[in-house]
Amino acid sequence: MNKARHTPSVLETFPVEKGELMIGGIPITRLTKRVGQTPFYAYDRRNITQRTAYLRKHLPDEIHLHYAIKANPMPAVVQHLAGLVDGFDLASGGEMRVALDTGMSANNISFAGPGKSVREISSAIAAGVTLNLESATELETAARLGEKQSTKPRVAVRVNPDFELKSSGMKMGGGPRQFGIDAARVPAVLKRIGELALDFQGFHIFSGSQNLRPEAIIEAQEKTFALAYRLAGDAPSAVYKLNIGGGFGIPYFPGEQPLDITPIGERLNDLLEEKAKQLPEAKVIIELGRYLVGEAGVYICRVVDHKISRGQVYLVTDGGLHHHLAASGNFGQIIRKNYPVLIGNKMGSSETETVSIVGPLCTPLDILADNMALAKATVGDLVVVFQSGAYGFSASPHHFLSHPPPIEVLI
Ligand SMILES: *Cc1c(COP(=O)(O)O)cnc(C)c1O
Repeated sequence: MNKARHTPSVLETFPVEKGELMIGGIPITRLTKRVGQTPFYAYDRRNITQRTAYLRKHLPDEIHLHYAIKANPMPAVVQHLAGLVDGFDLASGGEMRVALDTGMSANNISFAGPGKSVREISSAIAAGVTLNLESATELETAARLGEKQSTKPRVAVRVNPDFELKSSGMKMGGGPRQFGIDAARVPAVLKRIGELALDFQGFHIFSGSQNLRPEAIIEAQEKTFALAYRLAGDAPSAVYKLNIGGGFGIPYFPGEQPLDITPIGERLNDLLEEKAKQLPEAKVIIELGRYLVGEAGVYICRVVDHKISRGQVYLVTDGGLHHHLAASGNFGQIIRKNYPVLIGNKMGSSETETVSIVGPLCTPLDILADNMALAKATVGDLVVVFQSGAYGFSASPHHFLSHPPPIEVLI
């Protein structure tokens, strides 16, 4: 049995008062009444604000901080972040509508993702959003649609780098990928951009996600700058934007420690000094999703049954995989591990019980906690899944089994 524990920093994100978890200063039972139903997601705006302030403190001032909306597209969350970050990164036309509704300047919005539709490309051009080109086909489509609109579309080249971000939860660069244009093909693409009526902005180099090792992130950043310098030699104009990706992870599972960003910030100072010589016009962008919002969110569901099967205690809840696929272990995990989970209205309880928490779906995949020692719970108690602010609500199959959807609130 693995004795590793969830990092305490995760559980200390939300304070406890009188045995109740406090979310945005509100006791969990009262918040549940206010929301009017379980299950629901609650996001703490103060936590998001503090997180961005912490990042700014540890990263060089010159870094432009972008939010990758994919992590949590709730309009109220995106609106809150609009006042905290320097720009947004999009991965669909739907996200573009949410982003533009906040009033964020289109000049600070970029749109990545393979297979952009003609309609998405056309809207992005009309809005003035920068298209991070993922293929030669997109390049030609953008030029054709720009001509129709009598505008020069803003474009950047998303590069599939010739290296990868080591020890990442998800690798998105290096080797064959559906993302970006292979580094070796980029010079030809840059030449073509120069021939067409396109407004070249720069490069987008995203190598991976969910990384907890500063040395791996630093190494990828060093290689990213070096690659950008090499490619810039073939660029049709100066490089104005250099998006170096992100990949900052958060601890989800027992034994994982929070990412130390201090050494990343320190090394970036040197890298930016060199950048000032090599690409003086380029502003450097870091794009982050889960690091900004992941820890600010909890998923709350209610115990509807307590049953025992051959000695194993099950808490059955009204929430599960259909609302929170990632916590069930079915969103990219190879071996299922428990997210941090607690009984939110019994935080002071000393009586514990080892339980498995499952949802109401008729599938054995519907697990929220497997064999965890938690405060002894009964029907009506509130199960809290932490680290749920990113890739929760919007990354789950709400329609599976036709149960009602959860609510989302920003507190
Ligand atoms: C998904 C994605 C992100 C966000 O990743 P996080 O792990 O949430 O920080 C950023 N950039 C691109 C291009 C992405 O596809």
